[in-house]
Amino acid sequence: MKKINLKSLLIVLLILPLTMQAQRNEHEVTDVWEPVPPIVIPGQGTSAPSDAIILFDGTNLSNWVNSDGNATEWTVADGAMTVKPGTGGIKTKQGFGDVQLHIEWRAPEVVKGEGQGRGNSGVFLMGRYEVQVLDCYENTTYPNGQTASVYKQHIPLANACKAPGEWQTYDIIFMAPRFNDQGRVTHPATVTVIHNGVLVQNNVTLLGTTEFIGLPQYKAHSMKEPLMLQDHGDLVSFRNIWIREL
Ligand code: MG
Repeated sequence: MKKINLKSLLIVLLILPLTMQAQRNEHEVTDVWEPVPPIVIPGQGTSAPSDAIILFDGTNLSNWVNSDGNATEWTVADGAMTVKPGTGGIKTKQGFGDVQLHIEWRAPEVVKGEGQGRGNSGVFLMGRYEVQVLDCYENTTYPNGQTASVYKQHIPLANACKAPGEWQTYDIIFMAPRFNDQGRVTHPATVTVIHNGVLVQNNVTLLGTTEFIGLPQYKAHSMKEPLMLQDHGDLVSFRNIWIREL
C-alpha cells in the first residue's frame, strides 16, 4: 500500500475549503455592511420625515425671531405665515449648516408690480446665501435674479413657476462653506434646488454672500447660522417648513 504523503494531504485540506469559499463568495467581496443607514420614516406627501426639525407647522412663529432677535410681527393665518412689509426679515432661533430644506411659498394672487417688484422674498441659507423667491409667472426680470436663482450668481435651469396665488415648493440641499483659521474659504458652499419637482440648481458653487450691488465674496462665519426669510415689501406667504441636518 502506497504511503500517504501527510504534507500533501495537509496542503490539500487547507487549500480546498479556501478555494471553495472563494468561488462561493466572490460576489460578496464587494458587499459593504457598515455603516447601516438610520431608519427615517418618510412623511406623507410633502410633510416632514421623522428626523426633520419642524420650523413652521402653520400654527405659530415660536422658532423664529426678527433680525434684532425680538418677536416677529409677521402674520400667521390659515396655516401660513405672511411677510409683514416694513418689519424686516425673520430668522430661525436655531443655526444650521449642511441641510436639506423643504419650504413652500406663495406669491400674492393679486398681481402688483413687475420685474423684481412682484412677489419678492428670499430664502437666505445661513442668513447670507439667497435662493430667490419671486413671482416669475409671465413676469420678466434679469434671469440671474429670477425665481430660484442663486441671486446674482446662478441662473436657474428652468422657470418652473406656478401662477400667483398657488403654493409652490422648494427642496434645497445646501452644503455650508468651510473656512480655515485665517478666515479663507477652503470649500465654497454648494446648493441644489428643486422647484415644484423640477431641478433648477444642480449642485452649483456659491461665489460668496449674496450682494445686491457688487460682486459676491466670502467672509468667514460659524458652521451654523440661522436660516432667514426676506421682507422685500411683498405679501409673500410660507408654510410647511422643515429641515434636516446633514
Ligand atoms: Mg429676494
